[in-house]
Amino acid sequence: MIKRQINVMLLIEDNPGDARLIKEMLQEQSSQKIELKHVECMEDAEKHLAANAIDVILLDLGLPDAQGLDAVRRARAAARGIPLVVLSGLDDESMAIQAMQEGAQDYLVKGQIEPRELVRALRYAVERKSIQEALFEEQERAQVTLDCIGDGVISTDVSGNITFLNIVAEKLTGWSLHEVVGRPMADAFRVLNGNTRKVIPNPMVKASQQNRRGNLPTNSVLVRRDGTDIFIEDSVSPIHDHNGQVIGAVLVFRDVSESRAMADQIAHLAEHDFLTGLPNRLLLNDRIGQAIALAERNRGKIAVLFMDMDGFKNINDSLGHPAGDDLLKCIANRLRDCVRGPDTVSRQGGDEFIVLLQGVKKPEDAAIAAKRLLKSLSETYFMGPHNLHITSSIGVSMYPDDGPDAETLIKNADTAMYQAKENGRQSFQFFKPEMNVRAVERQSIEEDLRCALERNEFTLHYQPKINLTTRAITGAEALLRWTHPTRGSVPPAQFIPVAEDSGLIVPIGAWVVREACRQAQAWVAAGLPIGSIAVNVSALEFRNEDFLESLFATLKETGLDPKSLELEVTESALMKNAEISSTILQILRKIGVRVAVDDFGTGYSSLSYLRKFPLDALKIDQSFVRQIADSPDGNTIVSTIITMARSLHLRVIAEGVETPEELEFLLAQQCDEAQGYKFSRPIPAEQFEMLLRDEQVHQSSKSNGSMKESNNGKRRPEPEVVAFTIENIRLPDHDTLRLIAREGSPEC
Ligand code: C2E
Ligand code: MG
Ligand code: MG
Repeated sequence: MIKRQINVMLLIEDNPGDARLIKEMLQEQSSQKIELKHVECMEDAEKHLAANAIDVILLDLGLPDAQGLDAVRRARAAARGIPLVVLSGLDDESMAIQAMQEGAQDYLVKGQIEPRELVRALRYAVERKSIQEALFEEQERAQVTLDCIGDGVISTDVSGNITFLNIVAEKLTGWSLHEVVGRPMADAFRVLNGNTRKVIPNPMVKASQQNRRGNLPTNSVLVRRDGTDIFIEDSVSPIHDHNGQVIGAVLVFRDVSESRAMADQIAHLAEHDFLTGLPNRLLLNDRIGQAIALAERNRGKIAVLFMDMDGFKNINDSLGHPAGDDLLKCIANRLRDCVRGPDTVSRQGGDEFIVLLQGVKKPEDAAIAAKRLLKSLSETYFMGPHNLHITSSIGVSMYPDDGPDAETLIKNADTAMYQAKENGRQSFQFFKPEMNVRAVERQSIEEDLRCALERNEFTLHYQPKINLTTRAITGAEALLRWTHPTRGSVPPAQFIPVAEDSGLIVPIGAWVVREACRQAQAWVAAGLPIGSIAVNVSALEFRNEDFLESLFATLKETGLDPKSLELEVTESALMKNAEISSTILQILRKIGVRVAVDDFGTGYSSLSYLRKFPLDALKIDQSFVRQIADSPDGNTIVSTIITMARSLHLRVIAEGVETPEELEFLLAQQCDEAQGYKFSRPIPAEQFEMLLRDEQVHQSSKSNGSMKESNNGKRRPEPEVVAFTIENIRLPDHDTLRLIAREGSPEC
């Protein structure tokens, strides 16, 4: 608020005549009622000012102890903030003017002073001082604000020349105020479009000319003095004089490079797979949408290739997730190398990838690409200590034939991929509408499986295992059969994977163990030479925390000698958690249950673990047996497995033996046992019982033949369980068994 009121005035005047004159003049102006204090020298004035409140000072410039500018300076020092009017003689008016430059608000020339003028001068001095103070405060506040805010501020005059830069603007542009003041804006503030690198016209000129606020376009970059760029955001406003005329503009701007980089990174993460850096499902959907629009315009086609690695889970289970992740990265790189610029490779998660091919003219083009991808992915991956091999299966869908949008094309390519897997690994398959029927069927199989146990729809078939030296039956593998009320007999390859995926394999597997043990014990009780009964155990069952307990309960309930039971477990099931597997195997060994590694050679097992695990047998997967006659390599694989098994003191059983050539080779390699159509298909219990009766007759005629003995003298010693009854083994209690299944326990 501007101050006008004067209550007390200090007159500093040594000349008594002049002092009296002033006093009279003030009294004459009776309306003002100004109280006058009078001192005759500067020293007295200083004392008075220190002790009293004064509204204005009238100072003579010729005091005995202070003259001229010195008097002004001393008075100002003693009375900061108090308006000052100086009295000068006619001959020293120039001194009075200098006094005003030193901070006096006005001057009066002795001898020319009118009473009215005196009071007006004093009142104006007070007003002017008050305005000056307010202005100073305002400026100070603005300056401090400009220096403290985090934004850069630049102002220009109406011609666009720089008038001001705050500290932040100096830092951001690299120019200091004194270097650029008066120079055109573009000298210190060069702004480009971040994408096109085209110069953006000075926003201040527009703001001044159009007299309105504005902003730079988003994506603007400031080229700093050192040539580096920063992304900026700004706002520009015109500045007006008191008549409303534009006198320039002010631009407030900030460096948004960091927040932009973060926003870019977040956007990238939202659209890319963190492991491989490939586009994810979201971005792929977008790209497929764009590709469809383009294909529509060009009357072209696109192809969606859905690929899944065969048996990738085995790698994760046996070599660990870090190795699995490394392999996925290598796969991603190979896929990238296999496609052209406009195509997209994306990871859907797990071991599933999708490749989008654009500009495809006919399905053959997609077939060529699929073959190229299959070949590239099947080449050896050299990863540290491991040389890995993996194949893949690809399903292909085409736009517009197989679907109108991304979702349908992906779904149909996925369905075709499943078909490719069923047809055999390392292959690709184009989508056909009838495949969708299969996917629905899989769903209905799962629903029907849920009630199959209650409805007694399962049976077991038994396939004999033969000692290759004596040709005696050493036992049988129990194989599950499902007779569906309407579908009839459903092959295991169709329903076992569904049971595994849905978890239904756990109760179904428990039924298989019980039924196999019951049947085997019935044959034992009938005096038939059953040998051992082999039961397949899926990974999910083996790792189930109730597995051991349920097995013991079944053995107890059926009374079967645990030595007569052999569990067939795959390599990947064993390697899934090698420590826990080892403990479970030790417990099984302790009670006499044997364990065979099923489908040996198809997984990734570590030899060092196989050596440590208490195992009894290896079953050579039938795919290797099938190769015996086909290629010398096939021969080598089988003989290598046999040699290896022998070195580990394990029994070797060849699966799926069909031809005399296969049998002959296995005999030559001294394989212990064989199983296959060459001897017998899996058969119902009654038929197998007849085989056993024949066997019994045959054995008694040989009187001293032993079914269980093998020709391999170096076999692992039989488990030390003699005259077993389940009661004489102290089993871990319920909670311990569950704990073992979860965490393993070396003491057991
Ligand atoms: P697996 O354990 O490897 O069983 C051997 C498979 O090979 C059986 O197929 C058998 O019928 C077949 N096979 C035997 N000899 C020959 C031959 O000379 N030539 C040919 N081509 N095949 C032969 P199956 O019964 O269809 O069973 C397939 C798979 O289903 C089994 O493979 C096993 O992994 C699984 N499976 C069967 N029963 C059960 C079960 O009770 N529980 C679990 N978890 N899996 C089971
Ligand atoms: Mg088996
Ligand atoms: Mg097998």
